[in-house]
Amino acid sequence: MKTIDQISFAGKKALIRVDFNVPLDKDYNITDDNRMTAALPTINKILKDGGAVILMSHLGRPKDGPTEKYSLKHLVPHLADLLGQQVEFADDCIGAEAVEKAKALGKGEVLLLENLRFYKEEEKGDKDFAEKLSKLGDIYVNDAFGTAHRAHASTAVIAQFFPGAKYFGYLMAAELNNAEKVLNGAVKPFTAIMGGAKVSDKIELIERLLDKVDSLIIGGGMAYTFAKAQGGNIGKSLVEEDKLELALTLIEKAKSKGVNLVLPTDSVIADNFSNDANTDIAPNNNIKDGWMGLDIGPDSIVEFKKVVEGSKTILWNGPMGVFEMEKFEAGTKAIAESVVKATENGAFSLIGGGDSAAAVAKFNFTEDVSYVSTGGGALLEYMEGKELPGVKAINE
Ligand code: AMP
Repeated sequence: MKTIDQISFAGKKALIRVDFNVPLDKDYNITDDNRMTAALPTINKILKDGGAVILMSHLGRPKDGPTEKYSLKHLVPHLADLLGQQVEFADDCIGAEAVEKAKALGKGEVLLLENLRFYKEEEKGDKDFAEKLSKLGDIYVNDAFGTAHRAHASTAVIAQFFPGAKYFGYLMAAELNNAEKVLNGAVKPFTAIMGGAKVSDKIELIERLLDKVDSLIIGGGMAYTFAKAQGGNIGKSLVEEDKLELALTLIEKAKSKGVNLVLPTDSVIADNFSNDANTDIAPNNNIKDGWMGLDIGPDSIVEFKKVVEGSKTILWNGPMGVFEMEKFEAGTKAIAESVVKATENGAFSLIGGGDSAAAVAKFNFTEDVSYVSTGGGALLEYMEGKELPGVKAINE
């Protein structure tokens, strides 16, 4: 793997694609800076070498060019605090100002460019736009795992302008190594825990995992499609009617491959999708009409914990219930606790990004699992066996 460890950046300007797509509140305070801290090892190595750092990122989904709400300038003070040094800012990611500021950048200095997505060319993967960006630095570093599944100008297309001078940053390398460790080097027993809203988002991954895991636990909203497919009454729980056949096929496949498929047997049900709803516990195949399952129930928790705590490799993607609401967080929290316990007992635990990472953070377990991925979609696609454009572009 071509990582930044293989070169010295002394006297060089590194153009680094980072994923600084952090959540901001209405006063532009950063409410979760994980994506920024995750890029610090790469930035610090380059600065320590005696290089200069030019950072580029997207923030949010601006529709019509420059928008105050999505300006990366809001990140400058916090980035300066994290790095313990001044950070220059260019109001545009290309054009005269960016070129001047990049040129003037001395050894050990840092420049942050304005939001790449203020240009439609970024997401279109426009080659001219990528070439303009490429002129700003001598070496291209990709450390943005969260966008590695996109063939955008700054994540993939740009790499062709740096033949022999393109590298993975430390975050990218760690993400890829940890995903590989689970996919192709898992110590057995290997358990995958899948949850979240929809089966359809995770079918490809589930099918692939059936060839690799010893146990597959399915919780969250997606479990009700399985319950209904098996003839259960699921009230008005989340269901994908067009995936009922598929759910039965997956159950059969698990059986034929000798995978222990663990589905919830009971649920916390509610008469409303709200934290103020009336709640009850019901068997998963007998939920009252008009009620919906919003979390796994106590019996399911006991069963799931047994499997998780007997595992040596754990991959977790998707919450067990609507963990954002206190009344429906118990299942996700209990599973998080047992992942932590298994980790303490020597298991390797990889938590998929997105909602699973948010859940682990909510319960303060981020430091107690082996690795929390910064990529939601990117990790899913990598695990499905797809080649990520951001990875391919460096490897080519
Ligand atoms: P995903 O993006 O597919 O991983 O789904 C995550 C979302 O699924 C979270 O916002 C959860 O609140 C939601 N979720 C989990 N369990 C359920 C459920 N039983 N009913 C409705 N939504 C759920």
